[in-house]
Amino acid sequence: NSFEIDENIGNKVRQVPGYVYSKVTPTPLLNPRIGSLSQRCLEILGLDYDKIYQNQETNDRFAELLCGNELFEGSIPISHNYCGHQFGVFAGQLGDGRAISLGDIKNAKKQTWELQFKGAGKTPYSRTADGRAVLRSSIREFLCSEAFVYLGIPTSRAASLIVSDTKVQRDPIYSGNVILEKCAVVMRVAPSFFRFGSFEIFKKQDKYSGMEGPSHGMENELMPQMLEFLFKNYFPEIYYKVPSLKDQVELYIQEITKRTAELVAHWQTIGYVHGVLNTDNMSALGLTIDYGPYGFIEHFNPKFIPNYSDKEGRYSYENQPSICKWNLNKLAEALHPIIDMSETKKYIDDNFDALYSAKYLDNMGRKLGFVLNELKDKKSLEDLEYECIKSIFDVMKQTSSDFTNTFRVLSKVSRVQELNDSDKQVIEDLVKYSAPIEHVRAQRKPKYSAGAIVRIKQLLDSNPNALYMFGIDPEEARKEIDEIENQSKQPQQSQQEQLDQNRELWTKWVLFYKQALSNMDASISDEIRKKSMDSHNPKFILRNYLMEEAIRLAENDDFSRVDELLKMAYDPYNEQNVSDISTQPPPSWAYDLCVSCSS
Ligand code: AMP
Ligand code: MG
Ligand code: MG
Repeated sequence: NSFEIDENIGNKVRQVPGYVYSKVTPTPLLNPRIGSLSQRCLEILGLDYDKIYQNQETNDRFAELLCGNELFEGSIPISHNYCGHQFGVFAGQLGDGRAISLGDIKNAKKQTWELQFKGAGKTPYSRTADGRAVLRSSIREFLCSEAFVYLGIPTSRAASLIVSDTKVQRDPIYSGNVILEKCAVVMRVAPSFFRFGSFEIFKKQDKYSGMEGPSHGMENELMPQMLEFLFKNYFPEIYYKVPSLKDQVELYIQEITKRTAELVAHWQTIGYVHGVLNTDNMSALGLTIDYGPYGFIEHFNPKFIPNYSDKEGRYSYENQPSICKWNLNKLAEALHPIIDMSETKKYIDDNFDALYSAKYLDNMGRKLGFVLNELKDKKSLEDLEYECIKSIFDVMKQTSSDFTNTFRVLSKVSRVQELNDSDKQVIEDLVKYSAPIEHVRAQRKPKYSAGAIVRIKQLLDSNPNALYMFGIDPEEARKEIDEIENQSKQPQQSQQEQLDQNRELWTKWVLFYKQALSNMDASISDEIRKKSMDSHNPKFILRNYLMEEAIRLAENDDFSRVDELLKMAYDPYNEQNVSDISTQPPPSWAYDLCVSCSS
């Protein structure tokens, strides 16, 4: 079952009847060297960071080992074969096109971790691509994997970043020209990299597209084996609870629905947008995996899309929860030979939203410092909390405020009834975190052209339902056009007018927030509340422009900024650990920076 590239056949898509993986040999990199290491991740693997950096010889040796030029003793590298729904459509066989697993290791704490290289060369599943990862995307995956650990969000980790002199060509949108870019290899670490797509590989045929899956009759033989492997190793509480596979799968669906709902609730409350939520990028363990064209929201906009290729915004910030639910439905479809599919889908549809909302409200409550008072009417306090959450996002949207800094400053709001000096300072800071007027203008580009508006208005008057034929919701179109017409009637705002307006909005909100706080448990002092809020609203987030700057230096072999960002990511809530420069909202060149999928 081993794999070698046959130059005569070329890189033919390989199917492996009876298996879901192929043995693979990593393709060596030219002149590999250590770009950056995550000391904390290496520690959990039992690798001694200081020994790696001991001298040039150990340094070089580890560079070879951490990119696959040399193999760890006992390692049998493989690539995993899986399918996926990409942008809503069944895409058939995909597989690890540039990921190679080295196997599992057991650490001193008896934890099992799978080690995986990303970018170590072609695999049988590379299709027409080169199996490589360029430096910029590798830096982004390396940093964010580790950042999420310390933000308390389930994730795969990253131990090392190796850079090389091997070069590949990517699409021109990044630089404006076609250029050659340096290849890198990240060693990723997770309990397992199984995905929803790992089960879609067993499909005989996709019900909706009619497309054949690569099942080879494995649906009834190999799928149960793989499920048993998954449950025994990663869900022992399910495996040992009920004997029949059907019952286990039903419990697993409940568990993965909960984990996925809670995961996306974390993303929403931190302002993280994954960028490519295809089913092959959804972890079967409920982790954040496959960091690609992701982004953190800076100037708040619920329609934020970090992925340059996602023109429709399928994977925008506001769509993430419903997309995760959709993906769970695809998992249920893949598991249909074992379970009752319609019942399972009903379970997901009936429970996902409530599981998501519970976690979302819990997280938001912590971010806003709400401690419900048992003595008072709990229901009305919850309503107040909910109102506060809804209204802060409304104001953030209206003022295009910086997501991270806005929440971070709220711990300084006092509970006394009148606005005191500290509150006034908070309001000034909030106004400062609002977007500059040029940004707001650029964002309010009308959705329809002048010509389209005329035709849509005609249809709205005569036959609104006809708009559905053009993929337009009449209700939304009416709102959109009202907004466009209102805007064009108003004279353009000046910078000063905008500041005044934002100050008014924030003052009103802060007063409402103070009122909500005063209804919460009075035994919690402002000081304790501040401490708690500061441990739920990070000071530091991996802003796109910070990574862009670090990448530019790293392209010239200077990894000092990458190391600095990693150090701040290790302790993102700690004022002392984060430089002031790294908490600034983006400079104008980095507004709504989009990232290419081809990485
Ligand atoms: P992604 O959207 O990055 O998760 O990738 C989707 C699919 O394309 C997966 O099967 C990847 O392994 C594959 N892929 C992406 N980039 C490459 C590459 N440079 N070489 C080979 N396969 C790739
Ligand atoms: Mg992927
Ligand atoms: Mg990928």
